[in-house]
Amino acid sequence: AKKSEQNNKVHYYLREMQSEAEDRMLLEKRLREAIPNNELVLYYQPQVDLRSGTLTGFEALIRWNSPVYGLLPPGRFIPIAEETDIIKAIGYWVLYTACKQIRDWHELGYEWLSVAINMSAAEFCNGETVVYIEDAIKKYNIPAFCLEVELTESLSLNDPEASIETMHKLKKLGVRLAIDDFGVGYSNLGYLKLFPADCLKIDQVFTRGLCHNPEDRAIVNTVIQLAHSLSMVALAEGAETESEARQLCALGADRVQGYWIARPVPPEDVIPMLQKARMFDPKLLMPTSERL
Ligand code: C2E
Ligand code: MG
Ligand code: MG
Ligand code: MG
Repeated sequence: AKKSEQNNKVHYYLREMQSEAEDRMLLEKRLREAIPNNELVLYYQPQVDLRSGTLTGFEALIRWNSPVYGLLPPGRFIPIAEETDIIKAIGYWVLYTACKQIRDWHELGYEWLSVAINMSAAEFCNGETVVYIEDAIKKYNIPAFCLEVELTESLSLNDPEASIETMHKLKKLGVRLAIDDFGVGYSNLGYLKLFPADCLKIDQVFTRGLCHNPEDRAIVNTVIQLAHSLSMVALAEGAETESEARQLCALGADRVQGYWIARPVPPEDVIPMLQKARMFDPKLLMPTSERL
């Protein structure tokens, strides 16, 4: 009885593994068709100046609106795209879609508006990135400084010299650069000092602990100082509450992004935000002593 039970178990696992592999192959096949089928969408999350409460721009975050799987977040398909050549096509789609969107919003009169796109290490280091970015900017005739490229620090690990060279070429075009998820990669400060980045994005795990964890507070404080010493804007990701925003303001963060302001929204929901003078009342964030 024991033997057959074991056999059953082995069969069960084999079947599980097989169906997982099949699921994944199907997902990959459908993902390949997602661009021609128009199933990818960019959502936009506002980035806000902490002192004035005004919008500074948006981060574009990809979603896959699949008829089979529903609306999928990037975590469910970007890693698979990165393991295949699909990431290349997705990367170009994101770039051209974001630049067209910038053009459209500029034409509506919001000429100050900038958009940040995320780029995987695989895309960034492929050598054609600069050419495509330059082409997209020219095609839609937008000022280069209205496009920001977000890179994770782990990027520099693969081929730091090549990454830094690409960064310099992008800076020459006028494109802005941000270091994403700062503090959770292998922070090589030796490379950070060589990055010609404009913005340091503090990862949301630190923002999460701001109000109850003195260590997180100390880290956020230090990273903000570090950003400023390197002449970068300090942007905190993932602020969900007013008390987190208040802490960030007290520590001297420049910008904030998170559910406290807004979740990522589809492009049609951006227009009402653009029409607001402010995303919050900055007086509410001042220390009590200064409020009167
Ligand atoms: P990321 O660039 O660090 O983006 C921030 C993530 O945090 C987004 O998740 C956003 O929806 C989420 N977020 C923002 N505010 C809050 C908050 O207050 N609380 C919490 N809990 N989460 C918040 P999302 O959209 O699922 O994206 C996940 C990651 O996928 C991104 O992290 C980025 O690394 C990657 N990604 C997104 N879009 C693209 C893309 O177009 N291309 C590539 N290569 N990667 C992308
Ligand atoms: Mg990002
Ligand atoms: Mg991030
Ligand atoms: Mg992230």
